Amino acid sequence: MRIDSIELCHVAMPLIYPWRTAYGEDANGESVLVRLRSGEWEAWGESAPLAAPCYSPEWAGGVFHVLKEWLAPAILGQEIASGEQLQARLAHFKGNPFAKGALDTAWWALDALRRGLPLHRALGATRDAVPVGADFGIMDSIADLLAAIRQAIEDGFPRVKLKFRPGWDLDMLRAVRREFPRQVFHIDCNSGYRLADLEMFRRIDDLNLAMIEQPLAHDDLVDHAKLQAAIRTPVCLDESITSVERMRHAVELKSCRYVNIKPGRVGGFTAAVAIHDICRQAGIPCWVGGMLESAVGARLCVALAMLDNFTYPADIFPSSRFYRRDLGTPELTLTRAADGTPQVAAPDVPGIGAQPDPELLTALCRQRAILE
Ligand code: MG
Repeated sequence: MRIDSIELCHVAMPLIYPWRTAYGEDANGESVLVRLRSGEWEAWGESAPLAAPCYSPEWAGGVFHVLKEWLAPAILGQEIASGEQLQARLAHFKGNPFAKGALDTAWWALDALRRGLPLHRALGATRDAVPVGADFGIMDSIADLLAAIRQAIEDGFPRVKLKFRPGWDLDMLRAVRREFPRQVFHIDCNSGYRLADLEMFRRIDDLNLAMIEQPLAHDDLVDHAKLQAAIRTPVCLDESITSVERMRHAVELKSCRYVNIKPGRVGGFTAAVAIHDICRQAGIPCWVGGMLESAVGARLCVALAMLDNFTYPADIFPSSRFYRRDLGTPELTLTRAADGTPQVAAPDVPGIGAQPDPELLTALCRQRAILE
């Protein structure tokens, strides 16, 4: 299909509560939405790298500029027949996976729409719904956290993820395990530790966690392999997996036993599906992670999560978790499986069945550009 026009919107979406992690605090979810048009068809993609370069080296304002100056002009007016062709047109630009992911997710959504296919079918999925987990950032007190976890368990969430950083670490985790001895938990360190903290990770082995997510540096594979060899708890990589090549290296080095795949972080669906397939081949289960996307970006994640090697419950949240009014419409809501487990369902409509609300998009837009 020929790419006739590309619209870019850098948005800041006010969160109900600040999102606190090992790298800091976010008051807004910042993302870049991309509208691709081909003839009479148009579809949206989204990439949500956050406001500051603290999760990864990319940030929403930078992604907007890289797209506007370099990546979008490279595909405007071009015939692009596949995700591989799109990536080939962008390959001479180094890195910048979140920026590439904005175009790549939009291309896949547009292609699915034109073919009359739901996006998850176009990606190769056979499921229509998958379970989701609960996820808690750093709170004001351990009592607040325990109350929130109790509610999540009552609501039937199959696993609970806890943000973990110096000062909100072993004492918190021991208190949680004492209170909830049988629940499935894992922690996300957001690259807040070093291999010198090995003794602390050895002590975590006694707490029977499902995994430790991204304990070490955001761009490391080697020290993660050393840590994984020294502890029983599986290591899960998030920040470190930014491309298909990085995934191949992680398998070779034995850096992890789980992978969290986010379409933006790896450069879009073309790479996300390839990484999913490499992991399946290597016997590494995956799960889909979330950033602070609108309901448009969250539905892109929902579509990806339907692939069959995503066997650990996803980090995909209903709109009401973060936003008073979601920029994406319709809002994303959770449904329940027959056994009551909270889940997300992929709609049986061409594409993703969602787009930004035009008025809200204008209100929340920090920068906008149209290339045609
Ligand atoms: Mg993470």
